[in-house]
Amino acid sequence: MILIWQYCRITDRMIKLHNTLTKKKEVLKPLDKKKVRLYACGPTVYWYAHIGNLRTYLFQDILRRVLEYKKYQVKHVINITDVGQLTSDNDTGEDKIEKGAKRDKKTAWQVARYYTEAFKKDMDRLNIKEPSIWAKATDYIPQQIELIKELEKKNYTYLISDGLYFDTSKIKDYGNLLGAKKRDVKAGARIAMVKGKKNPTDFALWKLSPKNSKKEMEWPSPWGKGFPGWHTECVAMASDLLGVPFDIHCGGSDHIQIHHPNEIAQSKALYNSNLANYWLHGEFLVVDKNKMSKSKGETITLKSLIDEKFDPLAYRYLVLTTHYRSFLNFSWQSLKSAENSLDSLRDKISEIKEKKTEIKGDSKKGKEYLKRFQDFISDDLNTAKALALLWKLLKDKDLSNREKYNLSLEFDKIFGLDLKSIKIIKIPEKIKKLAQQREIYREKKDWQKADIKRKEIESLGYYLEDTVNGFKIIKKS
Ligand SMILES: [Zn+2]
Repeated sequence: MILIWQYCRITDRMIKLHNTLTKKKEVLKPLDKKKVRLYACGPTVYWYAHIGNLRTYLFQDILRRVLEYKKYQVKHVINITDVGQLTSDNDTGEDKIEKGAKRDKKTAWQVARYYTEAFKKDMDRLNIKEPSIWAKATDYIPQQIELIKELEKKNYTYLISDGLYFDTSKIKDYGNLLGAKKRDVKAGARIAMVKGKKNPTDFALWKLSPKNSKKEMEWPSPWGKGFPGWHTECVAMASDLLGVPFDIHCGGSDHIQIHHPNEIAQSKALYNSNLANYWLHGEFLVVDKNKMSKSKGETITLKSLIDEKFDPLAYRYLVLTTHYRSFLNFSWQSLKSAENSLDSLRDKISEIKEKKTEIKGDSKKGKEYLKRFQDFISDDLNTAKALALLWKLLKDKDLSNREKYNLSLEFDKIFGLDLKSIKIIKIPEKIKKLAQQREIYREKKDWQKADIKRKEIESLGYYLEDTVNGFKIIKKS
């Protein structure tokens, strides 16, 4: 009996995830049976996150929710890069935070604080769960220095006038660790290369402050005054907070070429480990350029969507419709469609919530839906199929309203569309009748009489919205 029970428990927790290290879908086997240690590369806080960045955090939120749904305790760390990332991944260019400070006429510290808060607000608006720990790079300077000293002791470093560098030629298969194409790494390196670097792929561990200028963010170190390189902070914070190896490391697919191979290179040198056992990457968001002329080439942020009167959860809905490892094509039109679908979903939930008093529930068919849903989300977080399944069950005549409602809320534990908060909106019969009369006048093209009915509805505290599927009655708030 005990053996059977254990088997059920294990299969129930089964999750397959695509591991970039092996380029395969693998069954997740956390080091601790009950816990998952998860690290996500966080934002560089010099400007608002754009919606492509936010897509990555939405994918990680889905991952976190699936893990918790499967009863894992998740220790989730997101770092805040408030120092050290330069405008180029090749250790050249300006410090992004100090550049932001000049632009905003603020100190670097103020800029970092401001955009950290803006990022957290975006996360909240998108219903993304907060990590267990926010780790700020500037809070981990001593740990980063210690880590670099250890690499130096092991002979992986060399000092040039610009700073202390990691010698990637000492790591076997460097650049191939995550399947990054060597050709691409070199092409990127041709753009700008720090003088004295031994190999194009070598990267700064500690950048020295320029002698003729004073930086706002700089610290003393055994190599001179300066600041840590971006690739080191994640290794220092992840190893400090999660240990090595930990279970899952996440990030956007843009990190496959440089940032993540550099994290792994340091971990190989220090711990002879890949740092994490599973590396997961979310794919890019592609912008439909023709239709984006509205934005005048500016980066689209969540605020841009809100300014255009979109509900942030409509963007969350849009992201759910595409698998996280596929490109997501963004256009205002696709966002509008997502918002329409979300509205219809809310209406449907409100309707079944009102009718869910029936006794019938918990049928065999309902259980089959739940099983299929669990299979989809366990198969590399397939939210697109899970969402399509939700619509299918809502239209299924064999299910009771109670079952539909309960299953919708169960699915929403992963979707995070806040379906639980939807209120039942009862439209009085009188309003419904007036709206129907207006519709008849509209069909007859008697615009004057239709308008009188519309005004009457509005005077009673409701208004009408015309959609492709007919009209919608909304209570004024
Ligand atoms: Zn990182």
